Amino acid sequence: MQDYINVILPIPLEKLFTYAVSQAEADFLRPGMRVAVPFGKSKIYTGLVATVHNTAPTVYEAKEIHQILDEVPLVNEFQLRHWQWIAEYYMCTIGEVFRSALPGAFLLESETIIVKNEAAEVDETNLKDDEFLIFEALQHQSVLKVQEVSTIVDRKNVLPILNRLIAKNVILLKEELHEQYKPKLVRYVQLGETYRSEESLEALLQSLSRAPKQSQVVLSLFQLQATTKKPIKVKDLERESGGSKAVIKSLIEKGILREYFIQTDRVTYEGGEENDSLKRLNEYQKEALTTITDHFKADKVVLLHGVTSSGKTEVYVQLIEACINNSQQALYLLPEIALTTQLITRLQDYFGEKVAVYHSKYSVQERVEVWNNVRFEKKKAQVVIGARSSLFLPFSNLGLIIVDEEHEGSFKQFDPAPRYHARDAAVVLGNLHGAKVLLGSATPSVETFFNAQTGKYGYAKIDRRFGNVLMPEVELVDLKEQTRKRKMKGHFSERLMEEIEEALAAEEQVILFQNRRGYAPIVECTTCGHSPQCPNCDVSLTYHQYKKQLRCHYCGHHIALPQSCEACGSPTLDTKGFGTEQVAEELANLFPDARISRMDLDTTRGKHAYEKIITAFEQQEMDILVGTQMLTKGLDFRNVSLVGIMNADSLLNFPDYRAHERSYQLLTQVAGRAGRTKKRGKVIIQSYNPYHQILKQVSTNDYLEMFDEQLYERQQYKYPPANRIIKITFKHKEYNRLNEAAEWFARGLRNVFAANVLGPEYPPVARIRNQYLKHVLLKIPANQSLPKTKIRIRRIEKSFNAIAQYRSVRVLYNVDHI
Ligand code: ADP
Ligand code: ZN
Ligand code: ZN
Repeated sequence: MQDYINVILPIPLEKLFTYAVSQAEADFLRPGMRVAVPFGKSKIYTGLVATVHNTAPTVYEAKEIHQILDEVPLVNEFQLRHWQWIAEYYMCTIGEVFRSALPGAFLLESETIIVKNEAAEVDETNLKDDEFLIFEALQHQSVLKVQEVSTIVDRKNVLPILNRLIAKNVILLKEELHEQYKPKLVRYVQLGETYRSEESLEALLQSLSRAPKQSQVVLSLFQLQATTKKPIKVKDLERESGGSKAVIKSLIEKGILREYFIQTDRVTYEGGEENDSLKRLNEYQKEALTTITDHFKADKVVLLHGVTSSGKTEVYVQLIEACINNSQQALYLLPEIALTTQLITRLQDYFGEKVAVYHSKYSVQERVEVWNNVRFEKKKAQVVIGARSSLFLPFSNLGLIIVDEEHEGSFKQFDPAPRYHARDAAVVLGNLHGAKVLLGSATPSVETFFNAQTGKYGYAKIDRRFGNVLMPEVELVDLKEQTRKRKMKGHFSERLMEEIEEALAAEEQVILFQNRRGYAPIVECTTCGHSPQCPNCDVSLTYHQYKKQLRCHYCGHHIALPQSCEACGSPTLDTKGFGTEQVAEELANLFPDARISRMDLDTTRGKHAYEKIITAFEQQEMDILVGTQMLTKGLDFRNVSLVGIMNADSLLNFPDYRAHERSYQLLTQVAGRAGRTKKRGKVIIQSYNPYHQILKQVSTNDYLEMFDEQLYERQQYKYPPANRIIKITFKHKEYNRLNEAAEWFARGLRNVFAANVLGPEYPPVARIRNQYLKHVLLKIPANQSLPKTKIRIRRIEKSFNAIAQYRSVRVLYNVDHI
């Protein structure tokens, strides 16, 4: 009987593809192993085995696979089931989930070539037979394809051999080298074999008596060996002996020292195994913990609603401790930008090297290491702290998931598919594992609080700050009145300046928040009114003073700031609106002695830039930090007594049903950075509309009132949590075709869903990177089946795609769009 496998390919195909395998291969293959398979005319993809079976495909002839890439599954059954759920729920293909779940280095593609590692000296006796064959082939041929290697050694499964050759420094993988996983090797030394007895060593030192530097190195090596009993790194020997690289090299050349390499993880925890003991919880934390564990016993997801600085993290730590004492894995999910060294260090102080970190600023190599440590249930990845993509790690024994800052919109992936919400996908993952799930926030999302209110989720709260520090005092400043009374200097009201002055005088720190980067979002000619636009997007170019540039924040297009108006030629260019750069500039003029820094996308590029700013601020190397919403996330500064919101109106007026909820969350979170210890903090919110109900609710810390009002509105206008929504986006480079196509699709939807279809409408920025965009919003009442709704949408899409001129219009689904 012929054997087959169904394979998940990393591309958006509706169905899995079937390939033919031999019986031996079928016996060997398990779901979750990778195979290289041909697809289309000439492409080879890394696919993932979903099932092994005996049913031939009916409409095509199954091709054979090229290679087997794994010896044991890379992906487990929990993951496959989770991915399946994500694909169905978020209306994408499992191939798209696969593609985004795996670190790129696992997706070996056909262009990979193998070359000799010219830098290394190869000891042929050290090679196994199959390794030698490849080594030999590379003496005659400068490059080998994966396929050729397969022919040479006459087997399909060549990755283990290649890995061994890489580890032995014999070969390199090229082209995708930067994307490929290379084990990191650390160089070690020991005494050469002939010098290991006492007599020979004495003779050696004797012979080196006229080479004091060399004998010093040998002696140091001896001392190091005596004290550590561990392998000696070349780096340590250099430091200990004061010897140069050259001296060590010549000793190695003479055979007095022998060098060797050990594979090591790139990210290692160096703080030793000594753990801090856990903090004793105060009565409020204890009560919350008891409530949480009670709900856990009833298998409920729990919301921990604790005001900023109430000590939620310490509660998480207790739960993690219990989880790992139970020999299970724990996952701590955070929004990307809240993943700070501050928090990581805090966890490492408790759990030492059991903590592994996983997020996008880590290299592919580092991510592969975490993946494998989780896969093999290594102790060093028992506690994973990571951004949303850590949901895709190969957990097999998950006991606890914490979703911190659960209200954060960045948990929702926007582009590309899968457009999943990490919080909701975490709840599903927890379910699959029978793991406990805790959602934490000082400002829960309306959805989650609704789930707690209706009893679907358990609820625990802490409404005092730790140490009984008072919530910061919030003062609203009326910008209209201040302007009328001529009390403004630039964008600073008199009150804000007074408070800054006071804080600086007391040597306390200040945070200023403005939710726009750059100098000004619009440049405008005062003569003719023209303002420079992005040629690729329907949006004004933002002025960046530091680089004297106009930049598009959507596509990156930039030009030098023109001297005069491009339209009328007058040198009368002025700016409108303001961003962090301008705030910092005005500040420097108003407070020339203050040390000022800026934290926004422009100042935090590069792996460590963000950390550097936070650390410098923490160590009080600066007085005032101006920033965008990056400032709001989970930072714990000890000495900040004042937070200023430069302008709350742009948040409140954002054209979106969630703008008010978001403003409440953002403002409360920024305000929460003030006065986290001892003295009560102060928050100044500047606004043209200080009587706005959201500002009032922020100032009285009245989450419940905010929630009730928002829920009422959502119910009135049929938005979540009262209804579900699916946003359908149409994309095309031709304006007219897009209009027609979107209208056609919307008509189809209206035939089925009547008044629950909104649009098509252009978004505020209706063209990005030369593609026009149009949205349709579908509201799905609570009593309407979601799966059936999706089936109906797909049916409409099928007929849509049958119309030739619409086929090139991209249709994107965003389920639970936020
Ligand atoms: P949240 O996560 O709720 O904003 P944190 O967990 O960061 O609050 O706690 C705020 C501050 O209080 C931190 O500096 C933390 O170290 C301290 N803290 C919290 N709980 C305790 C405790 N039980 N004992 C000592 N310090 C605590
Ligand atoms: Zn002009
Ligand atoms: Zn642009």
